[in-house]
Amino acid sequence: MRELREQSGITVGHLVDTSFFTVIVYSRETKRFATTLVPYRRPASGEEIAEIRCGTCGRELLLRVRSAAETTRVRKRRLTIALAGLALTAAAVVFGSLVYLPLAEPLGKAVLIAFLAGLPVTGIAGWLWWKEDGVRLLSAGEGADRDHWRLDGAMPYRAAP
Ligand SMILES: [Zn+2]
Repeated sequence: MRELREQSGITVGHLVDTSFFTVIVYSRETKRFATTLVPYRRPASGEEIAEIRCGTCGRELLLRVRSAAETTRVRKRRLTIALAGLALTAAAVVFGSLVYLPLAEPLGKAVLIAFLAGLPVTGIAGWLWWKEDGVRLLSAGEGADRDHWRLDGAMPYRAAP
């Protein structure tokens, strides 16, 4: 997990081109970006939205930065969800192994669904908890911005409103 520095920077990528390499059923997409390092400073509390510019095309983008305390709160919420998912899965395993539950019965179905739903919830929430840094790249316009991506986040993502 990354520590929450008061000052740091994100990498904004401007999409230069996308190429496809295709052999019969195999296809690989390659995106090329021109990158800009955008520094930020966390507010003392709450969140702030700063205007930034792409170093490649000069277009305006927005950067929402949460304070360290606020980010810690968001992380805690994610962790709580992850642990609840884990507890749900564990409870389903224990209950399912102690009691005979035919799948035709509603209780059997409910336990199976709890087991199947608990794991992905744990995985996704746990991963988001681990990767949350309280910084989001947003587009300045209405719709999703097709050209600008944040490249150093949990997963590369496009700037959206
Ligand atoms: Zn740009």
